[in-house]
Amino acid sequence: MTTTIPHWVHGEPYLPEPPERTGEVYDPATGAVGATVALAGDPEVAAAVEAAEAAFPAWRDTSLARRTQIVFAFRELLNARKAELAQIITAEHGKVLDDALGEVARGQEVVEFACGVAHLLKGGMTQNASTAVDVHSVREPLGPVAVISPFNFPAMVPMWFFPLAIATGNTVVLKPSEKDPSAANWLARLWAEAGLPPGVFNVVHGDKAAVDALLEHPRIKAVSFVGSTPIARYVYEHGTAHGKRVQALGGAKNHMVVLPDADLDLAADAAVNAGFGSAGERCMAVSALVAVGGIGDELVAKVAERAAGLRTGDGRRGSDMGPLVTGAHRDRVAGYVEAGAAEGAKVVLDGRETVADGGVDGPPGGFWLGPTLLDHVTPDMSVYRDEIFGPVLSVLRAGTFEEAVALVNANPYGNGTAVFTNDGGAARRYRTEVEVGMVGVNVPVPVPMAYYSFGGWKSSLFGDTHAHGAEGVHFFTRGKVVTSRWPDPSQRGLRLGFPQND
Ligand code: NAD
Repeated sequence: MTTTIPHWVHGEPYLPEPPERTGEVYDPATGAVGATVALAGDPEVAAAVEAAEAAFPAWRDTSLARRTQIVFAFRELLNARKAELAQIITAEHGKVLDDALGEVARGQEVVEFACGVAHLLKGGMTQNASTAVDVHSVREPLGPVAVISPFNFPAMVPMWFFPLAIATGNTVVLKPSEKDPSAANWLARLWAEAGLPPGVFNVVHGDKAAVDALLEHPRIKAVSFVGSTPIARYVYEHGTAHGKRVQALGGAKNHMVVLPDADLDLAADAAVNAGFGSAGERCMAVSALVAVGGIGDELVAKVAERAAGLRTGDGRRGSDMGPLVTGAHRDRVAGYVEAGAAEGAKVVLDGRETVADGGVDGPPGGFWLGPTLLDHVTPDMSVYRDEIFGPVLSVLRAGTFEEAVALVNANPYGNGTAVFTNDGGAARRYRTEVEVGMVGVNVPVPVPMAYYSFGGWKSSLFGDTHAHGAEGVHFFTRGKVVTSRWPDPSQRGLRLGFPQND
């Protein structure tokens, strides 16, 4: 008998009746079903939103000092028990334990940023804007907000949003990916232990039906979404059509451009780390490596040598790279390798062969695919056009710097990019001319710190607000400006004209 993972509503597990629909949750390293997860429909979403709505007025009115104490207590618990969370992530996502710990650490940085909420919410004040008239501005919370997250960061992506949403006085309904739902429930329990009042943080599990119920629910004021581009576009359009504030982060095709003067050993290390870390299931993974000038063959040889030495296997056994998240996704990624070869790319390293040759440290039922390197990829090939989201690194060649920049800018995605060079002027020109939201200079995965904001351009983000940092605070609050005068008898009298300031 497998257990059914419940929702989390009003501070406790919530599964009022056997769910009408459930999903299977796999251990990707074995291929076995570890649990089933309840898939919410309208009634479960309504219960979670009702809890969030009921908790909102008291939470909004809770002092900043108390809210900070609770967020700080959450941070302390998370820091002390992050190894537990990493185990849960690896068991359902498949990424290696070290990487899972890294994910938790990056999420924790946002919690730490949110501990400064009292400073972040300071408004402006003007005394004597007119005679005896003062003006001040405040930022107020919105109400119940929804966070909808993807499978690839089951802890970090929710933590891009909910620490700031909660610290600024909102209440939250999180709808995590149904592929790896347990991290969300673990985080919910941690909030309860930290002293967060019931109803401030709720979790509903589910798929499209739950997402639609949240997008259409009149009490949900804002939606933070992260996932693939087609769904991000849909969530943005459907959510805003229902009157909500929406930020929807989408997919990516991240280019790493290597200029001829770069340190090729450093660049090769970086390309392998960024291309195959988390089996390529990162929105900031490098999937297109652009060799500029005549360095292509040398760079490919160095990358191939390093990638061939990676150990693919169960993330709990000290491997470099784990399995893919599901069997269906593994098959889809393997299909792209086949298509790339058929379209004329040179398969330098074939991850399907790594598996066939028994070069994997894990049971045969796991969702394995070894590191794959494709050379001589061109922009018309499906391996380049589509986001593959697996351990497949495509190498393209560009004759000049200008050609490389034009290639990156012609791509519809604009999440992350990197340039590798020792020429400061070229790097400066690259970061100025490239149309991408997050740029690394000799840094292959340029994820901004929590006090900056995270987000791409073009088809990688719908809406105008990025995640966390100052933009996160702005997204979860709305501005109010108060003009006040404390009357004295000299100000009596009727004046129907539009007030003039003097
Ligand atoms: P996904 O789009 O399949 O799912 C994301 C969320 O949307 C999940 O909660 C899922 O349940 C829900 N969903 C799925 N289909 C839906 C539908 N038809 N209608 C409404 N909701 C639906 O994405 P995924 O496979 O879980 O995650 C991988 C994707 O996320 C990749 O494209 C990756 O680039 C992207 N991603 C982007 C960022 C970023 O910061 N831009 C970060 C992480 C992941």
